[in-house]
Amino acid sequence: MSERFADIIIDISHEAIDRTFQYIIPDALKGQIHVGMSVSIPFGRANTLRKGYVVGLSDKPKLDESKLKEIVSVSDKGIAIENSLIELAAFIKNTYGSTMINALKVVMPVKEKVKGLTKKEVRLLASKDQIEKLSEAYNKKRAKAKLRLLNELSEDIVIPYSLVTGKLNISANTLNAMVKENVIAIEEEGYYRNVFKNKELPAVIDNPQNETPNAEQQAVIDRVITDYDNGDRKTYLLKGITGSGKTLVYIEMIEHILEKGKQAIVLIPEIALTYQTVKRFRRRFGDRVTIMNSKLSKGERYDQFEKAKKGEVSVVIGPRSALFTPFPDLGLIVIDEEHETTYKSDNPPKYHAREVAIHRAKMCGASVVLGSATPSIEAYYKAQSGEYTLLTLKNRAKKSAKLARVTVVDLREELKAGNRSMFSNHLKEQIRDRLDKKEQIMLFLNRRGYAGFVSCRACGHVFFCPHCDVSLNLHDAGTANERLVCHYCGYEQKKPDKCPECGSTFVAGFGVGTQKVEEQVKKLYPEARVLRMDLDTTKKKDSHEKILSAFAGGEADILVGTQMIVKGHDFPDVTLVGVIAADTTLFENDYRASEKTFDLLTQAAGRAGRGDKEGEVIVQTYKPEHYCITTAALQDYDMFYDEEKSYRKLLAYPPFSHMMAIFMETETDELSKELADVLRLQIETYKASHENALKLKLIGPCEAGIYKLNDRYRRVLYLKHTDSKILTAVKDQLEDYLNDNEKYKDTHVSFDLDPVRSY
Ligand code: ADP
Ligand code: ZN
Ligand code: ZN
Repeated sequence: MSERFADIIIDISHEAIDRTFQYIIPDALKGQIHVGMSVSIPFGRANTLRKGYVVGLSDKPKLDESKLKEIVSVSDKGIAIENSLIELAAFIKNTYGSTMINALKVVMPVKEKVKGLTKKEVRLLASKDQIEKLSEAYNKKRAKAKLRLLNELSEDIVIPYSLVTGKLNISANTLNAMVKENVIAIEEEGYYRNVFKNKELPAVIDNPQNETPNAEQQAVIDRVITDYDNGDRKTYLLKGITGSGKTLVYIEMIEHILEKGKQAIVLIPEIALTYQTVKRFRRRFGDRVTIMNSKLSKGERYDQFEKAKKGEVSVVIGPRSALFTPFPDLGLIVIDEEHETTYKSDNPPKYHAREVAIHRAKMCGASVVLGSATPSIEAYYKAQSGEYTLLTLKNRAKKSAKLARVTVVDLREELKAGNRSMFSNHLKEQIRDRLDKKEQIMLFLNRRGYAGFVSCRACGHVFFCPHCDVSLNLHDAGTANERLVCHYCGYEQKKPDKCPECGSTFVAGFGVGTQKVEEQVKKLYPEARVLRMDLDTTKKKDSHEKILSAFAGGEADILVGTQMIVKGHDFPDVTLVGVIAADTTLFENDYRASEKTFDLLTQAAGRAGRGDKEGEVIVQTYKPEHYCITTAALQDYDMFYDEEKSYRKLLAYPPFSHMMAIFMETETDELSKELADVLRLQIETYKASHENALKLKLIGPCEAGIYKLNDRYRRVLYLKHTDSKILTAVKDQLEDYLNDNEKYKDTHVSFDLDPVRSY
């Protein structure tokens, strides 16, 4: 017997209707309604037709049955969400405090069915001896078109439909007639879009040479698969230094769970989904692996999900959203570069892929492996406390590869010695040395463009963006395209010839950006071939991959770039990495500034000495005594962790407390102040009236890092409490308050639990 009622979530994002509504399943639809399906239902007084998702079925009406409405139809465009994904949406809703409909949208990265591609072909049905008779008959009737097709088909019994209607120029009428005569058949076959056809991804699986794990790698692999076979499902933190061969470890583990008939998801930061990475998985798993990312078309993404559902692929590699691949029997989730902040969603609900992955794994009996050379403080803390199981790789996988030597250069001393250039004397000498030896060099600077800011050297006037509270950056200096650019809103203007304040013509850029580094390198080493990789040079679709492969292919001696160049790439010929200014990320108003800087320095150091030759890293800084610089120079994560942990503990930052950022955006300066005060008062009232919220700590409100952006005024307020539930309860209260107040209708307030970015 099938159920008579369905609980449905309406596809409208509004707090007030964020609950289920019961509908009657009409006789005509009995037995056809399943959980996860999208349906069309009448809603509200006017009975407007709306889309909704079925999240439950029952036999009992919750209200008087006569008050319930009926489901109108099943919407065939929407795709079903698996039962378990609905449960996952509920987890996201409860943890991060979002509406159910927004949470459902997160677990359904592909929301609509996309028509499948079909291959149309024409097949010859007539036998060999019939062909002769047919040609005679066609000849007699002067049926030239039919004859033409018959000739073609006698050579190849199946030909593409497009060839028939195209080159052979045969009309649909003729084809229909021949179908009726039983001479041919027109066949249509659905097929999936091939995501490996793009040249940047490996279509062919060339020489499947497989590396054999070394003893250290094997020990880690054995640990996980023994647990797995014993039915122990855990979350592992694999802490492996750069170049220790974590990818091979993942591959071996996946191989094992595939043998058990399970599937695996591999999450990687979007930026790391390159030819190199995919190739290694394709070599081992061939067509059983596919990819997901935002560069794929809707249809391509839909097809990959269909393949996953039907078991036609068993491994999906992709960024955050790949976590929701509807595999029927998931066995393992790998999160590579676990510490990357891109695993946290930027849009509400601002969920963290790590936490959601662990929950999904729990629900379906899968294991989770988090991998990193520099684990997030949160993950390492949990590994220390035993919540995660710690696995370590302490050596580089390739025997010849050794960790690079790190030299710290104090830029204050350079200045004292009269060196005003952006390169210290030591860095200059070493660049010269590598150029002479024909070895490769990477120069890393975490700031793109030409200069930090532009000002008048006569009166000190600084050029600001008219829409944002930030100074403008100089781009393409010295060219005809010389201009000032806002890195936040994209505003551009020609570089003025004169200072608008004092009329002086001495307007110039200060500080350094990647463009300026490139320019200086070319000046100092005119014979060197230089490539630059940053946001400006990678706007076009394949440019990212092109620059990397050009450098890997030895087409350049020096690669200058932002953090894009230091993440994960394997360039065996690089023996020198220069960090131009290690401090750029150190003084951001973000409690994670040290962690970020340590990660970047470790990653940068990880690029040198991956081949047979020893590598050196030169770190230039104004703060050589800072613990994140000294520990990075020693490449000692544990020492860094101890320092960082004490600092976080002292100030009650995560992981010692949960934190909620409340970010406000308004049209005017006055409204910004007013809203911040009003929200603060609401929070104080909540605190005073809830006993369990007594220990709630409130920081701010204060102006956001950039107060004015795109002509909107921004403030931020932080809350801290050891129980995240209290924070989401406050959030609910504030949202109710905002919904009830017309006055704040045009303001924008967003909430971020355990933020990984600064506001
Ligand atoms: P990680 O991700 O830990 O930084 P990778 O997985 O990129 O390291 O591996 C670094 C290099 O070591 C790669 O070139 C890889 O092919 C090589 N490698 C990994 N494992 C082995 C092994 N067991 N034997 C030989 N080379 C290996
Ligand atoms: Zn001036
Ligand atoms: Zn701007």
